[in-house]
Amino acid sequence: MNWSEILGFKQKCLHNRVPLDAEIYYCPDCGELIENQWFITRCDCCNTKETATIRNGEIVPLENFCRNCGNKGYKIERISKIDCININYAVLVRVVIKNEIDEYTQSWIEAMQTSIGTQKLLR
Ligand SMILES: [Zn+2]
Ligand SMILES: [Zn+2]
Repeated sequence: MNWSEILGFKQKCLHNRVPLDAEIYYCPDCGELIENQWFITRCDCCNTKETATIRNGEIVPLENFCRNCGNKGYKIERISKIDCININYAVLVRVVIKNEIDEYTQSWIEAMQTSIGTQKLLR
């Protein structure tokens, strides 16, 4: 018995064929309704935009320290529409829109709280 059996997933679809410029789109591979959500990170001191990445399921800045002021803290900002400037900074999270939305929201709130907790510890 492994986790995918416990959770009832057969094979996890990464929805790679959902176009990046679509806001909401039915995945042609699995038929799930997918929402593209884009996030950037900013320095929480000087507000400089930092390149975002996903590490251990959390949205974090690619650089550990702000290149402008050397600060380690950051905040995550969701951008409603991706454009040619932000695409260089943003990270994409593909969200399945269905009954499990509560479950999803829960896990992301936990991820956010973890990153906020980490920041506090590092101060
Ligand atoms: Zn899919
Ligand atoms: Zn800064």
